[in-house]
Amino acid sequence: MEQVSDRLARLSASATIAMNQRSKDLQSQGIDVINLSVGEPDFNSPDHVKEAAKKAIDDNYSFYAPVAGFPELRKAVVEKLKKQNDLDYSPDQIVVSCGAKHSIVNVMLAIINPGDEVLVPAPYWVSYPEQVKIADGTPVIIEAGIESNFNITPEQLEAAITSKTRAIVFSSPSNPTGSLYTKDELKALADVLAKHERVIIISDEIYEHINFTGKHESIAQFANVKDRVVLVNGVSKGYAMTGWRLGYIAAPVWIAKAVTKLQGQFTSGATAVAQIASIAALTGDHGPTQEMNVAFKRRRDLLLRHLGEIEGVKCSIPGGAFYVFPDLSHYFGKKIGDQTIENSGDLCMYLLESGHIATVPGAAFGAPDCVRISFANSDENLEEAMKRLKSALAKLS
Ligand code: PMP
Ligand code: GLU
Repeated sequence: MEQVSDRLARLSASATIAMNQRSKDLQSQGIDVINLSVGEPDFNSPDHVKEAAKKAIDDNYSFYAPVAGFPELRKAVVEKLKKQNDLDYSPDQIVVSCGAKHSIVNVMLAIINPGDEVLVPAPYWVSYPEQVKIADGTPVIIEAGIESNFNITPEQLEAAITSKTRAIVFSSPSNPTGSLYTKDELKALADVLAKHERVIIISDEIYEHINFTGKHESIAQFANVKDRVVLVNGVSKGYAMTGWRLGYIAAPVWIAKAVTKLQGQFTSGATAVAQIASIAALTGDHGPTQEMNVAFKRRRDLLLRHLGEIEGVKCSIPGGAFYVFPDLSHYFGKKIGDQTIENSGDLCMYLLESGHIATVPGAAFGAPDCVRISFANSDENLEEAMKRLKSALAKLS
């Protein structure tokens, strides 16, 4: 009998990965699609990272690594957190996994019981609610709109917490909006969370290095919550290393231990060569990271300039990450021929099929009026994509 488990049946497929695949399928049929769907840097991994990995192969890093990660890598993470974030951790609080995505689901599996609620501010990264469901928890969405720059308020947070709340998960800088919380805003959220001792704070900081406002701020800096913060980060975005699959947590020791136990039955740990490459990324020259940041800021401005010229588009100014998240609901209800664009899903399909630009419907991120556009693509492709967007939207009436 071909029947998947109830757990799997409840799960939605990743919309970001689905749109990326769809766009690649069209490209392989010879259609010139500009792919602004998936969020991954369009840069190659830095040379010193590649060299370290080649050497690791020659040095026979072909055996199982320790489940929580090589001591040298965990030490490099501890030093990074001290140097860049002024945060104190010890190596036994660090667990390395196969990407930040894996780190987050590990934590959820380690702390959530059936019926536990996990707060997920919307717009959220597509995987958060699904990962909560994998762990048999219940996602509780807190909605934040464009008028609050997509950030939740302390009052909203307080109102959402119940006796069943076990965790909150959020990203700052945010996927999909690029919004970030200031230090004061994070402090205000921490002050609410400090009163609720059962709540674990999963702080996804994978876009730390793609920041156009200056210094990165982590909620782990606040002493009244630090012993309940699980800081999540990795090398995918800041070092253009998505395919290496390496992420990590910095967490209270009991969570680090629990995740290590889980991982010992799941993956036996992250790939040895990728771990050595990640030490090079964390400890080596940050020049390539800074260059990417400059390019992303220029591209953000390019998109904002074009979007500002389009009728009916509302857009916040992303402070980080590489997405813009315009509200395109002005176009819902409009027609092309006998086709009506009812929602963000219809609009993205229309933009893909007629405009040959791949984006992701806001509905997948809990914001049905919006569309996510990634600017991790060349300036030239972005210019062309904006031309196509303008022309496709102008055809709707
Ligand atoms: N968190 C957010 C907010 C992301 O956008 C991504 C992108 N995939 C991840 C986590 C996962 O990153 P990784 O490639 O390290 O699994
Ligand atoms: N985080 C990226 C995105 O949102 C990569 C795809 C994924 O892991 O979902 O597009």
